Amino acid sequence: MTMQSKPDEEFQIVSFYRFVSFSKTELSKIHKELIKEGATNNIVGLILLSKEGINATLSGKKENINNYLQFIEKQKGLEDLFYKRSPSTIPAFKKLRIKTKKEIITFGKPGKSASFGFHDLEPEEWEAMLNEEKVTILDIRNDYEIELGQFKKAKNLGLKEFNEFSKKLQSVELPKEQKTLLYCTGGIRCEKAITEMEKQGFKEIYQLKGGIIHYLKIFSNKSFEGECFVFDHRVAVDQSLNPSQKYALCPHCGQAAGRKIKCAHCKKHTKVCKHCINKKIEHLMTCSKNCAYHFRMGHQCRK
Ligand SMILES: [Zn+2]
Ligand SMILES: [Zn+2]
Repeated sequence: MTMQSKPDEEFQIVSFYRFVSFSKTELSKIHKELIKEGATNNIVGLILLSKEGINATLSGKKENINNYLQFIEKQKGLEDLFYKRSPSTIPAFKKLRIKTKKEIITFGKPGKSASFGFHDLEPEEWEAMLNEEKVTILDIRNDYEIELGQFKKAKNLGLKEFNEFSKKLQSVELPKEQKTLLYCTGGIRCEKAITEMEKQGFKEIYQLKGGIIHYLKIFSNKSFEGECFVFDHRVAVDQSLNPSQKYALCPHCGQAAGRKIKCAHCKKHTKVCKHCINKKIEHLMTCSKNCAYHFRMGHQCRK
């Protein structure tokens, strides 16, 4: 008998973004109201605001999340948002952070010129186009995200950070005349990438609407292989969009940790990422920064 509890509905994780131009006054007003309304509804998560729009990942109980979304959609320019939902047994953040920044996704170039929605493919259309003969499938996420899973046959640019995109794209030979199919986690990076790719002469660019998260809702265990890295406490989501059972957060570097080890200090079973393991440094074979410190100092574990 398995005791696995159904990881449903306890908490919901919702993510969305919208490119819309806010004035300075509008930004400070919405910032204050989002904090206030977030506290009322016990919402945790991260919201990035900028003159170019909003980008958010939120977590809370279903009813609270719905109230909060309803409130957000009453704001000018934020009507009828397209959001991605997934279930979680944990609230994927500790608190609610709202930041006003230059961009809602760091790219190095505020704003976006490609017309919204023009290039979007629904998961069904995407799935059909993946199998066409002359297409380039391009994963524009960072390499540590791609390590956990990707679409079959996808190419990538080996990015450490998204703001390397324009330069890296220039340095690789990709066919510009044929269809290029872009994807990322939730779609926002594609929006910025498309603008840049058009500038660099790519003729026919499409993006997966709502990213991998939206795709997995419709097709699990199909063309996307492995798990999808996410930037919160879940580390990754599996094919059913449930929090990863396979990965934990590496205690030493914050990347996805999939290798089981026994802490060299306290002997607890834990997970460390393969990069830290490959460094072959003994104090990284520990369950926490604290244990790493004591191990380095040669202390005995007092537990
Ligand atoms: Zn690590
Ligand atoms: Zn330990």
